[in-house]
Order: sequence, then C-alpha cells, then structure tokens
Amino acid sequence: MSAEVTTSLEKELNTWLAAEARFNQAAEALGLDDGMRKILRTPAREIAVAIPVQLDDGRLQVFTGYRVQHSLARGPAKGGIRYAPDVTLDEVRALAAWMTWKCAVVNIPFGGGKGAVVCNPAVLSMGELERITRRYTAEILDFIGPERDVPAPDMNTNEQTMAWIMDTYSMHHRTTVTAVVTGKPLDLGGSRGRVEATGRGCTFVVREALKRFGIPPADTRVVVQGFGNVGSMGAKLMARCGMRVVALIEVEGAVYNPQGLDIEALMAHRKETGSILDFDGGENIPAAQAMLMDCDVLVPAAKENVITSQNAGQIRARILCEGANGPTTAEADRILAENGVFVIPDILANAGGVTVSYFEWVQDRQGYFWNEQLVNERLEEIMVNSFQDVTGYADKHSVNNRIAAYMLALDRVTFAIKLRGIYA
Ligand code: GLU
Repeated sequence: MSAEVTTSLEKELNTWLAAEARFNQAAEALGLDDGMRKILRTPAREIAVAIPVQLDDGRLQVFTGYRVQHSLARGPAKGGIRYAPDVTLDEVRALAAWMTWKCAVVNIPFGGGKGAVVCNPAVLSMGELERITRRYTAEILDFIGPERDVPAPDMNTNEQTMAWIMDTYSMHHRTTVTAVVTGKPLDLGGSRGRVEATGRGCTFVVREALKRFGIPPADTRVVVQGFGNVGSMGAKLMARCGMRVVALIEVEGAVYNPQGLDIEALMAHRKETGSILDFDGGENIPAAQAMLMDCDVLVPAAKENVITSQNAGQIRARILCEGANGPTTAEADRILAENGVFVIPDILANAGGVTVSYFEWVQDRQGYFWNEQLVNERLEEIMVNSFQDVTGYADKHSVNNRIAAYMLALDRVTFAIKLRGIYA
C-alpha cells in the first residue's frame, strides 16, 4: 500500500486497493491457497523508464514512463498505454491486473499489462507527443512484441500514438511489425470495427441484461457519463438499437431530453462548439443531477471512482454498465448490491475493446483482413457468451456479477499456471 494513503476516503479511491478488495473476495470464494494468491497478485514485471525529450522551446524535460506486465500465464501481456499528469505506478499496477482478469473473462489468449507516461497531453504539441512516444517505445523495446506484450490505446492515446509505436519498433527490428500494437489506423494494419468496439461491446451486454429483466429497448432510458470514444460510440449504438439516451454527462455539465437525444447531432454540436452544452435537441442540467436520475441503464464511461460511498445510495438506475475501468469503488459495490442494482462489471462490460484488439492481432499475423460484419459478429458472440458465463456463475454461486467475473477469471488464470507448472 502507498505510504500516502491515510484517510478512509483516500483508501476507498486507491485503485490498487480497490482491485485487491475484489481479488480477495473472489480468491476467498474460490478457496485459493496462499501461494497461488501470491502468484496471482504479484505483477510479473514492472518497468520504469526515464524519457528525456527536447521541448519545442528548446528546454530539456525528463518524463517518467511505466509498463507493468501483470501476468503472462495465458499469453502475451495485453493492455493500453495512458498519458496523464497524475498517473501513478500503483494505478498502472491495478489497471494491468484488471487487464489479466478482463482477457480471462472473455477467454482470449492474453495476459494483462498496462503502461503510462506521466505527462499532460493538453499542453504538449504533436511534435512533443511524438518524441515522447518514440523515446518511451525505445526504452521498453526489449519487453514488447507480438509474442511478448502488445500495447493499445487508453486514456489520451489514440491511433496516431499506436502508429508511432509501431513505426519505432519496426525501425529497430528492420522490418514492419504491425502486430506489436493494436488500435492502429486502418491503413497500417488496424482492424475494422476497433474504434467502435468498446461501445459496441457495452451495447451487447446491456441488450442481454434488458432481456433478462424483460425490458424492451424502446422502453429503456439510458444515461451515459463521458463522451469520449467509449461513451460516444456506446450512446450512438444504444440509440441505434432503439434505446432512448435521455442524458449525456461531460465535465462541463449534462444535456437532457426525455424523448432521447440525437447522439450523432450531439457529436456534431460538440465538434463545432467544443462542448455538449447548449445543444438544440436537449436542455442543460447539472452533471450530478443527471448521474442520480431515475433511469434503466447508467453507463459510466469516463474515468475511475465516479460511483463511491458518497453517491452510490442515490443511484436510481436498474442496470449499471461499466464502460470505464474502475468507475465503482468497492464500498459502492456493497451499497449497489444492497439496493439491487444489476452491475455489469468493467472487466466484462468494456472488454469489447480488447476483444477486437485480439482480432486485430490475429489479422495482422495472418496478413488477411476481415470485413466489418465479421468483426462485429465475432465480437457479439464473445460478449454474449461471456455475459452468460458471468451471470450463470453469479446465479450458481450466489455472488454478485463482479465477484462472479473475478472468480471466473481467477479460475482460468490459475488453471493455466497449474498446467504450465512453476519453472525453477
Ligand atoms: N485500453 C483498453 C482497455 O482498458 C484496451 C486494451 C487493449 O485493447 O489492449 O481495455
């Protein structure tokens, strides 16, 4: 535990401790022995690197970069790289472990990893970002690769970032290696459907949950928090399925329309004005009000720790679909369970992204690319099966969906470790 964690709220918001709390519950329920717990909770490899970069004004700056490979038991490490001013090693560790569990829940042949560069992309030019990305890639070069560790986009990184990583890696290897990262531009070995994949995966699992409760899509009121890649694609695709997205929440506030927002028009409005507010097709309301409004589905798709012990008791959604990683704290989990909220946990709900990353890696290695329909059909099959696996497990063992997802994942990773044996 980090030394700076002191108050109970700080503890609640520490992502590593949040991951630990869920891990412990699932390990307990599975009856895992101490030794296996030690293996499963210890990251296989943690790399910290210095990234010296010349800024546009001529000054030299040294950024810090991390790559944590939590588990390599089921295959190469897999997971995104985020750029943020306040990202810590503890957070990267937790996110790397989440990737291990996420890949195991959807049963794709990867371990888990996560990377980060401590920087503020909002104040960096494209040139500076490119230099940071290339030097970071050079520093972790020996540890990544199609069979070792395959990074992808995450917060504040995108297709362009992946193109730079792919190019830097390829220059060192003297040959083009597209399968070293996923989430690349289509013209550089990217997969059709990757940009929409996380939002599409959320849509599939929400659709399954609605079936379970017998709620027809046309009667479904959805509130989405976050209008980045996951939130915007999720909102667009849920609306396309006939659901009414009644509120959309961003940092600057929320827009509301009880008849359902026109998501594509809202995307155009945001592109034009830089904000979702003052949209013709809805009214401005405070973000906190939208978060707590009466609805059928709430999709937190922005960042960690938005549902905590402070507001969980006031959530009035029937179904919570976690588009972001870690939006709900462990304390909040308990309150939501008491109130009967049906939680589709992050390691299942947002696994559509890494699933299509897997398809991208397969296509790159085959050099044969699928059409979008095939990508979406295969994604649907994996998301629907995984939803059934998790909810079936929850029903059978009388645990909530999150613990069921963790149990399923821990079980699969443990099985792989036992089959491989411990090399000495
Ligand atoms: N960053 C995404 C996640 O958290 C995608 C990871 C990937 O595609 O490897 O799931």
